[in-house]
Amino acid sequence: MTEKFDAIVVGGGPAGCASACVMAKSGLNVLLFERGQYAGAKNMWGGAFFGPQLKELFPNFREEAPVERFVTRHTFSFLTKKGSTTLDFKPAFSGPPSDNGFIVMRAKFDKWLAKKVEQAGAIVVTSMLVDDLLLDGGRVTGVRIGKEEFSSDAVILAEGVNGILAQKAGLCSGVSADNMKQGVKEVIALPKQTIEDRFNVNGSEGAAMEFVGSCTRGVPGGGFLYTNKESLSVGIVVELGALVKNRLKASDLLEEFKEYPDVARLIRGGKTVEYSAHLIPTGGLKMMPKLFSAGVLVAGDAAALVLGTGLILEGANFAMASGVAAAETVITAKKKNDFSETALRDYERLLREGFVLRDMHTFKETPRLLKNTRIYDLYPEVVFEVLENILENDGKPRTKAYKIAGKVIKTRVGFARLLSDLWAMRKMT
Ligand SMILES: Cc1cc2nc3c(=O)[nH]c(=O)nc-3n(C[C@H](O)[C@H](O)[C@H](O)COP(=O)(O)OP(=O)(O)OC[C@H]3O[C@@H](n4cnc5c(N)ncnc54)[C@H](O)[C@@H]3O)c2cc1C
Repeated sequence: MTEKFDAIVVGGGPAGCASACVMAKSGLNVLLFERGQYAGAKNMWGGAFFGPQLKELFPNFREEAPVERFVTRHTFSFLTKKGSTTLDFKPAFSGPPSDNGFIVMRAKFDKWLAKKVEQAGAIVVTSMLVDDLLLDGGRVTGVRIGKEEFSSDAVILAEGVNGILAQKAGLCSGVSADNMKQGVKEVIALPKQTIEDRFNVNGSEGAAMEFVGSCTRGVPGGGFLYTNKESLSVGIVVELGALVKNRLKASDLLEEFKEYPDVARLIRGGKTVEYSAHLIPTGGLKMMPKLFSAGVLVAGDAAALVLGTGLILEGANFAMASGVAAAETVITAKKKNDFSETALRDYERLLREGFVLRDMHTFKETPRLLKNTRIYDLYPEVVFEVLENILENDGKPRTKAYKIAGKVIKTRVGFARLLSDLWAMRKMT
């Protein structure tokens, strides 16, 4: 192929599709390569998309996109071997559920996104793994697939967590297992009505459930359970470095997680129809590569733009927003016909003006603080024990709640340690 493109995008996930779509809509000649048989074939996630990014790009997404359910109920549970404590958040509303949180399955969703990219005028080529970058005097001028070369003014790397091409572009120098989480997930089929009865949802309503505690055996991370139309996504996300150090397997932790009564009751009678695993870059700002250099920009997971606040994990919205910012930068660069590193600096400015880099800065200490193992093995037990003692009625005169809490904290944690953890955690959320 000798044709020169305005932009080549590597990767057909949310970051790549968003960027290709915006550039193609503005009239640029765009080529997107995806290594999977179709966009989404290689991808998995928990799967709730939080934020307005999809609607901003596709105002009719509610009618068009393969949304499984809209999140109308969000629970956060502390799991212990003795039992659990849960916060159940379910805002009252009238009319259709808000579209700022919705559950999708990546195989269907990414395929739909890639179709939108084609409709916008870009060329999408699947089953193509981009092997390398074309370089001319330090400037990226295209990509190589086998012996074939494809040249372009700009390349947007939206290749996901591995970031191999970003390394080849000299934007980063590899990743450490301590900055990665491994996600493993099962999709468990259940009849629609069973799901709605068990999760207390109706029609297009859905539940997102997050779990921390003994289910990860002290490894930083947690479990999740999301409702699809006719299946459940059940999984755990755990720090890779700690897994290796503790000689644990994520798949074994998932098996144990499914046996907790809070989970077992909800998945009972279901049939596992899919099993998948994937890495997530959760090191935050500290693992973020250089975001651009002459002729190249990096977006989404490849740029480690994932936010884990300890409550939920957000990656898809960051991927889309960074993809859009990269696209807008390339559109401006094309107008000036300047793809130098200085011209592409606009990308970082756009990310700083929006939520992406601001959030990454706001929560820059969170990845480090979430490594505190007491969050997973001690505090869920303390919360449970305090409530257990407060709620127990053994026929004897009652003790005031603060005295019960004080006694449990003194014996299980110690006030000094609790205060020091709380002081550190104020930076977390
Ligand atoms: C278990 C789990 C649960 C998660 N839960 C959530 C959640 O609930 N909410 C949320 O917002 N985020 C969640 N995330 C994170 C979210 O999935 C990612 O942040 C998001 O998918 C990043 O999008 P992306 O486009 O940057 O990368 P990806 O979605 O990884 O897409 C990259 C694409 O590039 C392709 N590719 C890679 N290399 C090449 C190459 N050399 N040539 C051609 N194509 C290539 C891949 O096949 C892939 O399609 C979760 C992740 C996991 C693993």
